[in-house]
Parts: sequence; C-alpha cells; structure tokens
Amino acid sequence: MNQYQSVTPSMIEELKTIVGAANVVFGDIEKLEPLSHDEIAERSYAHMPECVVRAGTAAEIAAILKFANRERVPVTPRGAGSGLSGGAVPLYGGIVLLCDRMNRVIEFDRDNMTITVEPGLVTNEINPIVREAGLFFAGYPMSLETCFVGGNVAENAGGGKAVKYGVTGRYVIGLEVVTPTGEIVRLGGKLMKDVTGYNLLQLMVGSEGTLGIFTEITLKLMPLPRASVDLLVLFETAEAAIAVVPRIMTLGGIIPTAIEFMDKTSIDASCQYLNETINSRGAGAMLLITVDGQDAAQVEREYDVVGESCFACGALEVFVADNHTTSERVWKVRRNIAEAFKVQSPHQSLEDIVVPIAAIPKMVSGAAEIAKKWDIAIPCYGHAGDGNLHATPVMNPAWTDDEWHGKLPLILTDLYRLTVSLGGTLSGEHGIGHKRKEYMPMVCSPAHMEMMRAIKRALDPGLILNPGKIFDS
Ligand SMILES: Cc1cc2nc3c(=O)[nH]c(=O)nc-3n(C[C@H](O)[C@H](O)[C@H](O)COP(=O)(O)OP(=O)(O)OC[C@H]3O[C@@H](n4cnc5c(N)ncnc54)[C@H](O)[C@@H]3O)c2cc1C
Repeated sequence: MNQYQSVTPSMIEELKTIVGAANVVFGDIEKLEPLSHDEIAERSYAHMPECVVRAGTAAEIAAILKFANRERVPVTPRGAGSGLSGGAVPLYGGIVLLCDRMNRVIEFDRDNMTITVEPGLVTNEINPIVREAGLFFAGYPMSLETCFVGGNVAENAGGGKAVKYGVTGRYVIGLEVVTPTGEIVRLGGKLMKDVTGYNLLQLMVGSEGTLGIFTEITLKLMPLPRASVDLLVLFETAEAAIAVVPRIMTLGGIIPTAIEFMDKTSIDASCQYLNETINSRGAGAMLLITVDGQDAAQVEREYDVVGESCFACGALEVFVADNHTTSERVWKVRRNIAEAFKVQSPHQSLEDIVVPIAAIPKMVSGAAEIAKKWDIAIPCYGHAGDGNLHATPVMNPAWTDDEWHGKLPLILTDLYRLTVSLGGTLSGEHGIGHKRKEYMPMVCSPAHMEMMRAIKRALDPGLILNPGKIFDS
C-alpha cells in the first residue's frame, strides 16, 4: 500500500515559492520521463516521478524536505542519473530532487590539499582545477565524464584507481548534509583525523540518498604522480588472465594503481561501439595494468617486474602504453564496455559482485559454468585488482522477454550464491538501489538488516527520503 500523498497543483505552487517557478516541472511527461530511470538497461526498473524540483541551495533543500514530511510526499535525490542500481529512480513517485544546478567549486585549498564542491559538479572537472598545483583527486569511476561528485559519495563509487588509492569514501573528509527532516548539519571538515563521536560522515558515504542530501563535499587531494605507465597484457583465455591477478597483488612492495580485466566479448563490444581497434591478436582476454609513482625510474622497474610476472604466468604479449594518447585509447575502450553492452541489448543484467582477490579465478570459472547451465552468455569485465567483477548475464536471443524475466532471478541467485560461497557480496561499487534489494538476505543476517532499518527510522521517521532503496522499510 502506498502510504504517500499524490502531488497536487497546490503543492506545486508551494514548491515554486521555494525554488522558483522555472525550477519545477509538473505534468510534462516528456520532461519527466528521462528522470524515471538511471543507466540500467532494463526499463522494468523505471518509475515516473510526479514532479521534478531543481534546488539551488541547502536552505531550499531543507525547506523541500520539511514540506515533504508535512505533506507525506517522497523525495528522491538525483545526480547525473548514471547509476546502475536504480538509486535515483522515484519508486513511489513524488518529487525527484535534481542537484544539477548546485555545481560550483566552493574552495580549492592548496595548503590543506582539499577541494570543497557542490554535489552537482561533474567528477571529471576536479582534476583540471587542481593539477597545476601538483595535486589530484583519486576518484576515477568509468563514468567520470558524466557522473556528479554527490552521486559518487552517495554510492561510495569505486573505479579504475581503487587498487592503490581506494574508493571515494577514503577522500570524503567533510560534508554538509540536509537531513531527511530538513536540518542542515556539518560533518567533518578539512581534518585528517576526527574521532569526535560516531563516524556519521562515513555513515552518509554510500547511503544511496536514503539518509541525507549532500550539499557541500570536501575532498582530500593527493600528490599528482609524476610518472604513470599502462600495460596491456594479452592472454589466451579469461581464466589465464584472471589467474595472474592474485600473483600481481602479492609481488611484494608493488601496488599497481589499476588491474582491469576484460574478456574478449567485452573488448569486441566496446571496440565495435567506439569504432576502435585494439591489437588483441586473437587473445581471449586482457589485463590493463597501471603503475604510477613520483619516480620515473622506479615506475619503470615496477612495470618491468609486473610484465615479467605476466609472461611467467603465460601472457601472450605485454604492450607498454607510455604516452597519454595510447593510454587514453585503451582506457576509453575499458570505460565504454557498459555502454556498448547496453546498446547491444536491453535484456542484460550488469552485475557488480565482489570477492576476495584470491577468489577471483574461481569466480570467473564459476560464472562460465552458470552461463553454460542456463545457455546464456555471461561476459565478464571489471576492476579485477579489487576482486570486483561486472559479470553481465545477457538474454539468450532465442528466449522471449517473459522467459528472460522469469529466469533472470534464478540466474542471479546462482551467481550470488557462488559469490557468497567465495566470501564475496552483492555489490562492490554500484550499490543495491532497488535492483538488488531482494537479494540482501543472502548476505545480511536479520540482525544486520534490523540495524540498517533502525538507522533509517531514526534519521527519517517519516520515511520520505528515497523510500524502497537498499531494503523495504
Ligand atoms: C558507463 C558507466 C560506467 C560506470 N563506471 C563506474 C565505476 O567505474 N565505478 C563506480 O563506482 N560506478 C560506476 N558507474 C555507476 C555510476 O556512474 C556511479 O554510481 C555514480 O557514482 C553515480 O553518480 P550520479 O551522479 O550519476 O548519481 P545518480 O545515478 O543520479 O544517483 C545515484 C545515487 O546517489 C543519490 N544521490 C545523488 N545525488 C545525491 C546527493 N547530493 N545527496 C545524496 N544522495 C544523492 C541518488 O539518490 C542515488 O541513490 C558507471 C556507470 C556507467 C553508466
């Protein structure tokens, strides 16, 4: 039963007084439809909003959330909508609260090595600002050309540099948050250490827009590596490529920046989509390995050791991409795999499983067995150095839509059961949203689920902020 009120014309008038008439969309299906979904290929996860509000300040967001509690209207925060778990989908209609107007850099503080931004800044815009000062932001989701910093914090986004630098949460040191009841709270600041009470800052990170709306984000910056080299390593089979990953991680003293894995199906799909060619010489899979550091000679020594280890483990070829143009071409192929699959077929389920790194070979061979059992393709790619694989079940073209929708939950259950048996879990970086919530009991005990529900009820007693995500309240 929907416990919420429908948005009425008189409510719209009140919202217009908060954010201005130009920043409210109501009753215009064409303008509302693009905000009914994120980047999940299947449209069955979509749901129409009743209205869209583009807020410009924290005070406006606070007023909207107070209004929403009073009127019992759900509010779903939205960044760029590049999510892959349905987090920004307004499951119960109501208001979609767009953060795209809040895209300013508030302060670049060179001395404290921090940058403070609004949530609607595109992630890729940070590094050009701080590079000249010899600094960089280590967040590197493959969607960085479109996604927003607020969405990255809400999903605790990972990406292509997490093996060495970790995920977004490591760099979030300060937040201004509007609570679900409409209070404006500051958590953390420019501090490198802070144990003053519960770590509410990190509770917010990865909360998928269910516990608060971020309005200012302070990120820690890192010294810009002076040298960086990418290795493109070819293997005969996916199993051979993935088997090398734990070996590289235990080389002793070398922490690569990235170890990305792409099987042949993924490479071919992305190359076709981009009209690009990679000299893969018929290889069945590739690793894209980055090594970076401050000292070029050291980086060279390290990539020599990594390259030799790959050869020792059966690599067919190791190409060195030591200039920006070649590196960018290869990374572009990697970044566009998800988009390429989406264009090929909407009947696919981009998964985000994560297992301990030593279990990665078993995960890849197990996924191949599940593909065989169900007579489907499950291409695999992802952030292998983090144990994070985007295994993507794709519908058998001989099946009807109904067959696919009937079998997909069983296929996913097999995949998740295997993941859990290897010590892994449902999502490494894309989040649960509403796409994966029914599988949460496979990895979270009833007590664990109740702790999360209790936190949600304590912070959002009216259950108006992004309801129906992660779990049902
Ligand atoms: C081609 C492609 C590649 C991708 N590669 C990666 C990758 O490498 N690593 C990775 O981690 N993800 C990746 N993603 C997924 C996605 O880009 C990330 O989850 C990203 O962080 C979402 O940001 P967004 O601004 O698009 O957020 P949205 O999709 O708009 O929203 C995501 C969640 O954040 C919440 N939210 C948004 N703004 C706020 C705010 N201001 N306050 C509170 N909550 C908010 C929403 O309610 C929602 O729950 C990829 C997606 C695509 C399409």
